[in-house]
Formats: sequence, C-alpha cells, structure tokens
Amino acid sequence: MQDCLFCKIAAGEIPSKKVYEDDLCYAFFDIDPQAPTHFLVIPKQHIASVSAVTAENQSVVGHIFGVIAKLSQELGMESYRVVSNIGEQAGQSVFHLHFHVLSGRDMTWPPG
Ligand code: AMP
Ligand code: ZN
Repeated sequence: MQDCLFCKIAAGEIPSKKVYEDDLCYAFFDIDPQAPTHFLVIPKQHIASVSAVTAENQSVVGHIFGVIAKLSQELGMESYRVVSNIGEQAGQSVFHLHFHVLSGRDMTWPPG
C-alpha cells in the first residue's frame, strides 16, 4: 500500500534491523524499544489491524504466531508478551497489522 511505513519496511524501501523474513511475514526490531528485547512481526500483505482480518487473509495470522514461537525459542526467550494495538485509543500509531514481541523485564498486568 502506498504511503504505509510498514509496507515500505517489508519491501526493503526503508531500512530496519531485520530479525526474520519469509514469503509471508517480516520481523524487525522496534525503533523505540519498550523492553530489552522488542521486535515487531508484520504480514507482508497490507492489513490495517486485527479488525481488518477476514476469512480470506486470516491464515497469515496463524503463520505469524508460528514464527513468533520459533523466534522466541531461537532467541532463548522463556517469558514474553505479544501485543497488538487496535485503534488510536488502544495506542495504535501505525495502521499496518503488527504484533509487538516484548521480553527481558518484569511486566505488569493490567497493561496501561
Ligand atoms: P503501535 O503504536 O502499536 O502502532 O506500534 C508501532 C510501533 O512501530 C511503535 O512501537 C514504534 O516505535 C515502531 N516504529 C515506528 N517506526 C518504526 C521504524 N521505522 N522502525 C522500527 N519500528 C518503528
Ligand atoms: Zn502497509
């Protein structure tokens, strides 16, 4: 999608610190980390948020969670949090579906 930051990152048009890539998804470190380990996993296809997941595109979400499980094992992350913000009130600032993966510090519940 034109003028989408994460579409451009997935396409390599904007530089990022890559963690992982395959045909369907791209993972990269967050530019403003909120934990000692903080990366994002995004579908290469533009999907605006969880709210835009449909029967036609939902398989990539399961794929992304498989990738998160694999990366967490490879990076030795025993405990971590996966977050997706949907809408401005929930803190979404980039309107391309992404899952934050945060690890390496104590976390509180409920989230702020
Ligand atoms: P959210 O606020 O949930 O939409 O998450 C967007 C995330 O993207 C934030 O944690 C930002 O720090 C991160 N971010 C924004 N621009 C970049 C970038 N160029 N490279 C890596 N992460 C970014
Ligand atoms: Zn996009």
